[in-house]
Amino acid sequence: MVKKFISFIILAALAVTGLTGCSSSKEQGAAEAKEKQPIIVQGPMPIEAEKLAGHLEDVKEEKSGSFVFYKGKLEGYPVIIAKTGKGMENTAAATALAIEKYDPAAIINQGTSGGHDPELNVFDIVLGERTVNLGSLKTGALNEGEGIEPKEWIPMDLMASEGSAGEDPDAENIRYFEGDEDLLAAAKAVKGKYEKGKVVEGTIGSADVWNNEVDRINWFHEKYGTSVEEMEGAAGAQIAAAYDVPFLGIRVLSNNKVNGGQYNPDTAEANQAYVLEVLKEYIKTK
Ligand code: SAH
Repeated sequence: MVKKFISFIILAALAVTGLTGCSSSKEQGAAEAKEKQPIIVQGPMPIEAEKLAGHLEDVKEEKSGSFVFYKGKLEGYPVIIAKTGKGMENTAAATALAIEKYDPAAIINQGTSGGHDPELNVFDIVLGERTVNLGSLKTGALNEGEGIEPKEWIPMDLMASEGSAGEDPDAENIRYFEGDEDLLAAAKAVKGKYEKGKVVEGTIGSADVWNNEVDRINWFHEKYGTSVEEMEGAAGAQIAAAYDVPFLGIRVLSNNKVNGGQYNPDTAEANQAYVLEVLKEYIKTK
């Protein structure tokens, strides 16, 4: 009798916990369904990510490897600032990880850059209508002692096919990643709010290279139509395209070798203020 009573109590307790467990996970599910897909804003360096995160409300920090994600809200809308680290590899990995972890509605990659266009000055901003990998190149065939001819190198499109890019003539093209139309529209709509320089549409070139040879910079400017160079945009754009996530690069000139524009780190924060305006405008459409 006592035994029966005890087992009844245990069963009842199990049923209650089971039920509570069930209803709380249901509630959680409903809350998550209501939660909007976040917008991710990437910044490679601490000066390009940490201050930006300070503009969000209710920030929670999450880490994965060397990548830091500041999850918060902007005017009630979920926004995640990602400190990716510099360079193509960091950016590609941080982009894939963020897409898998957070299922973002869109990704903005922002930060500083070096000018390729003599019409652009330090503090001007380029909206990446297109982004291109400047490190994807195939050299000419020269024998020992024949030297190196960088001006003869040709573009190589690693996305042209799954076969050998070295043999495939279809791979001898420039691969551009298009900036997302809606993100571009939001960015264009708030151009007037930026007063430290002009905001133009253009081509962002990326590679793990800092070019200081003006002839080489001019070569990219003429062949690829680059407005600026940096080390991240094309890597983020390629991975975002692989998952079909809208992407836009927004880059301020912190230096411009072709017109003598000296490096100014304050440009990073000026760009962030503009990116915040773009975010607010884009959120209105969501
Ligand atoms: N002068 C900086 C160097 C930063 S390293 C410092 O000493 O801290 C390069 C970073 O700046 C990358 O994230 C890249 O995206 C950006 N960048 C700015 N100007 C660049 C340029 N001219 N070429 C390549 N990357 C540039």
